[in-house]
Amino acid sequence: MSVYEKYEAVIGLEVHAQLSTKSKIFCGCSTAFGSAPNSNVCPVCLGMPGVLPVLNKQVVDFAIRLGLATNCSITHRSIFARKNYFYPDLPKGYQISQYEEPICQKGYVDIELDGGNVKRIGITRIHMEEDAGKSIHDLDMDTLVDVNRCGTPLLEIVSEPDMRSAVEATRYLTSIWKTVKYLGICDGNMEEGSFRCDANVSVRIIGASAFGTKAELKNMNSFRNVERAIDYEIKRQIDLIEEGGTVVQQTLLWNADKNIATPMRSKEEAHDYRYFPDPDLVPVVVDEAWIASIQALLPELPNARRKRFSDLYKLPAYDADVLTQERELADYFELAVAVLGKKNDENIKSVSNWVMTDVLRVMNEVKIPMTDFPVLPEHLGAMVNLIADGTISGKIAKDVFAEMLVTKESPKSVVERKGLVQISDTGAIEKEIETILTAFPNEIARFRSGETKLMGFFVGETMKVMRGKGNPKLINEVLKKKLTGA
Ligand code: ADP
Ligand code: ZN
Ligand code: MG
Repeated sequence: MSVYEKYEAVIGLEVHAQLSTKSKIFCGCSTAFGSAPNSNVCPVCLGMPGVLPVLNKQVVDFAIRLGLATNCSITHRSIFARKNYFYPDLPKGYQISQYEEPICQKGYVDIELDGGNVKRIGITRIHMEEDAGKSIHDLDMDTLVDVNRCGTPLLEIVSEPDMRSAVEATRYLTSIWKTVKYLGICDGNMEEGSFRCDANVSVRIIGASAFGTKAELKNMNSFRNVERAIDYEIKRQIDLIEEGGTVVQQTLLWNADKNIATPMRSKEEAHDYRYFPDPDLVPVVVDEAWIASIQALLPELPNARRKRFSDLYKLPAYDADVLTQERELADYFELAVAVLGKKNDENIKSVSNWVMTDVLRVMNEVKIPMTDFPVLPEHLGAMVNLIADGTISGKIAKDVFAEMLVTKESPKSVVERKGLVQISDTGAIEKEIETILTAFPNEIARFRSGETKLMGFFVGETMKVMRGKGNPKLINEVLKKKLTGA
């Protein structure tokens, strides 16, 4: 047994989701990403003396939406607090957040582990807060400050220390990520920082009941980095303990270029935030009617949709998972299936294949919203109908799809305009095959003496002279008959 197997990791995540509201949490400034530095600001988000913050109601709506989607109880009277600290990107000198009485408490999400087992991960709390600005250190100049982000609304989702490996942590994170995107409350962009995660990691001997001392990892801007950073930290702590050392509580910054985590200066993590209730904001009172109105409008959530996709459409687990990663992709698939002439398993699986390969390939190349995809879902479904009724072969369909990508036409119009209808006339196919067979007597002899893989050669030659339009099933049948007499 390796020393690593004596230990288990304990992980809790703190996730920050930037909300996709048009304006900030306590003022009317825009939240647009990428504006000129320090252009989206006003006296309120700069914390000038004498101004009063006013809560953006949509932030509360979004918080309740996420709370309900993650099985939390919604706090009927929650309050805002000031978290006091000094940093150049925080001109107010405090961040408005929630401390006691956060808007959502005691929820959970279920994650699926390898082998299909489900594990429940507790959510301690979800609270509303404002983001800080950004310090820019890497421009070969003195540190610059952009305060545009000050006052951008965030939800912080704090998990229980329920995860036991980096994989469990990334499954949980993926589940939260999919949920905020399905709910339409956050764009989930980890690179731009609108979805961020800090990971708290400790280790203990398996069987121990007390937790070990935790370290907090920051600065991971992709799922992959989260997984790597946690694995790195678990190993570091075990190695340290095995060498006789002790883990100290500290904050570490993940360095994705070097694949290591380095400690932040200890001064910066000496927390004493002096939280106190913000005297400028009234309590947030949420009644049952408000909660019910949000509950009524909750969309189908990722787990439920994935399950429905495998049950209703009889799709493999893999397909159901890929197709429901994003709500818009799942919608696209369902709109394509809706126009199928025969909604049998074969046609549905065919739509799934087209979406998972051709549609996703293009989507990964061109960064456009799914709703702007040039091949309409109805057109994709109609194309699968043309394959199913024998009008075009699967091979020609690739050309039709490529053409639809450019012209946005219906598949029928592409097929007619380019004369792509498949030739399924047995007589015509036999005629072409006879010509081919007379041209390749040697290959026929080799085939008959056992080189059966030459079948592919004959099919290819026939397709070539028929310019790809021959019905491949018929070509195979006719060739088999002529070559083997079967
Ligand atoms: P802090 O007081 O340092 O903010 P909290 O108790 O508020 O710590 O927890 C912050 C996060 O750390 C939560 O997600 C929690 O689940 C996680 N956590 C707490 N203790 C541990 C531990 N010993 N090991 C790993 N994660 C932990
Ligand atoms: Zn402002
Ligand atoms: Mg805490």
